[in-house]
Parts: sequence; C-alpha cells; structure tokens
Amino acid sequence: MISRFAPATQAEDWRDELTLAFRDGLSLLRYLGLAPEAVGWSADAAKSFRCLVPRPFARRMRPHVPNDPLLLQVLPRAAELIDDARYSTDPLGETSCQAVPGLLDKYAGRMLLTTTGACAIHCRYCFRRHYPYTRFNPARDDWRAVLYHIAAQSDCTEVILSGGDPLMLTDAQLTRLLQALAAIDQVKRLRLHTRLPVVLPARVNDALCELLAALPKPVAIVLHINHANEIDADVAAAAVALRRTGASLLNQSVLLREINDRVDALAALSEQVYACGILPYYLHLLDRVRGAAHFDVDDATARTLEQELRDRLPGYLVPRFVRELPNRGSKLPL
Ligand SMILES: *Cc1c(COP(=O)(O)O)cnc(C)c1O
Ligand code: SF4
Repeated sequence: MISRFAPATQAEDWRDELTLAFRDGLSLLRYLGLAPEAVGWSADAAKSFRCLVPRPFARRMRPHVPNDPLLLQVLPRAAELIDDARYSTDPLGETSCQAVPGLLDKYAGRMLLTTTGACAIHCRYCFRRHYPYTRFNPARDDWRAVLYHIAAQSDCTEVILSGGDPLMLTDAQLTRLLQALAAIDQVKRLRLHTRLPVVLPARVNDALCELLAALPKPVAIVLHINHANEIDADVAAAAVALRRTGASLLNQSVLLREINDRVDALAALSEQVYACGILPYYLHLLDRVRGAAHFDVDDATARTLEQELRDRLPGYLVPRFVRELPNRGSKLPL
C-alpha cells in the first residue's frame, strides 16, 4: 500500500535506530574528531545525567567544531558540576502539583501528563533532568487513575502529553491513550510535546500518522528545536507528514547561552521552522535547574534579542519570550 503520509518506513524502525544512539560522550567525541579536553567533557556530569544522542542528531553536528550548537546541547561538561544555590532539582515545583501521580494540575483548563520518563536524547539544560519519574508513573495501572481523574474534571478542555517524550511510547500504547482521552467529552483538544520528530525523524512512521489522523479531536504538536542546524531534509519531511494528519505544528525553544543567544541564530531558526510548516511559539528563558547555570542568559540580553527579532521578522515569526515560574498558572512574559 502506498502511504498517505510518510516515507515508507517499517513501523518500529525507529527503535532500531535508537539502539544505535551514542550513550557515551567519549564515543560521540571520537565520531566528531574532538579531544575531550578541548570541550570540557566530564565523566562525572554524565554520571548524574546519562549522555544520550541519537545518530541522526549527531550527523547534523559539524566535525572538529568544539562549540557546535548541537553538541553543546548534549555533551556532559564539567560546568554542570558547579553548584549554585539558585538552581534547584525541581525548579518549577512540579512534584507538589500532582493531581494523581504523573498528572500535573497547574494550568487552567489544561492537564499535563508526564507519559514516560524516557527520551530519545538527553538535553543537558532539561528542567526535568532530576524529575522522579519512577515515583510519579501514570502508566502503572494502565492509565486508569489518570483517565478517571481527567473525566471527573468538567473544566478540563485540553490534555498535554509531555514527558520525557510521549512519542517514546509504542504506537499501540499511544493509540489506546489518545483514543481514551479523546473519548472524554469535555476534552476538546489534545496536545503532544515532543522532540522525537527532530532528533529521530524515523519516529514519524505511517502508524503514528494514521493514528493521529484518526483522532476525533484537534491535535496540536509542539516540537522542540533550538537551532536551525537541527533541521535537515528528514526533519522537514517528518514535519510535512505530521501536518498532513491535520495537526497544528508549533515550536518551542529554550534560550541557551552560546547556542542560540544571537539575533542571527534566532532569526534563522524562525525562518527554517516556518519553512517546514511549523510556527514559532515560545522561547523559554531557562528554567533554573541544577547543573544548567552555564546555559542561562540574563533578562537584559533576552529583552534586546526580542526587540532585534521584532525589528527583523514579521510578528508571526517572533516567538513569545516567556519565563515559567512555580505556582503560576500561566507564563510570565519577559
Ligand atoms: C507552559 C508549559 C505548558 C503549558 O503550555 P501553554 O502553551 O502555556 O498552555 C506545558 N508544559 C510545560 C513544560 C510548560 O512550560
Ligand atoms: S527531550 Fe525534552 S524532556 Fe527529554 S531531555 Fe530533552 S528537553 Fe528534557
């Protein structure tokens, strides 16, 4: 059968690709022709949060470039070990707003489900890098408690599948979960927050596209791309396939020092993202998580960047510069 959506890939090919991922920073550095001393590599940093980089993402890094913007997002470095009391293990206070384990009730009208602790890539700045996923596992009773709780919330109009990465679930698991959520009357929209179509585009297979297209409620997919170099032809094809399912595609990024903290980088990111049919949505100021202080960009610089971006791009290509704070139901605009 000729696929309606995606390039013809076998349903679970992406899992094979994931097994080939770099799980050791030193082998990634060898692949890139870089000496560990030249890039601040730290084995101790990798112990606290494991290194994980899928091959398709690594292929977009330039060899022999120690400050490559993709490499800096994923390489365990000594700077992560510098202790700074302002950076905590739970920067958004998420362990204290669980309606049932794994279901966060923080945003008005929206419930956020941390579907799985697994990701296809480990981003060093991740605000959930210390999150106790095994303590808050919503899948342990086959999602029953979560579905029951959401069904009882008459004001819940949207469910956000987050993680980890919800697309780490199998197609069968996703189908069951999404269909069960879509069957809840008051839930009008479904949302997925995912980095998989970017870091492992083979994840966007036929089965996934068929299941998204079959859902009876509108779907928004919020991707996570921080730099234009993350987008190649495979990512663009994955985005086209996702759009054909009828889903809206948005992008969120994190403002990261030495990675995308220049107006040229941010403008290129917006342009490239839009060329793939994705609208820029949020540019997050860094959540102050322990181990990520060296990625932080100060507010004054962020404000300047926002103005420069406005001066350069149409309004719909300027993402909202926001900060997320604990105990607040909405983002704080910069
Ligand atoms: C802000 C935020 C949300 C909710 O997103 P909105 O688009 O503001 O509804 C969900 N998850 C995380 C991690 C967020 O920071
Ligand atoms: S993919 Fe998302 S959840 Fe996973 S490590 Fe990166 S930022 Fe964190």
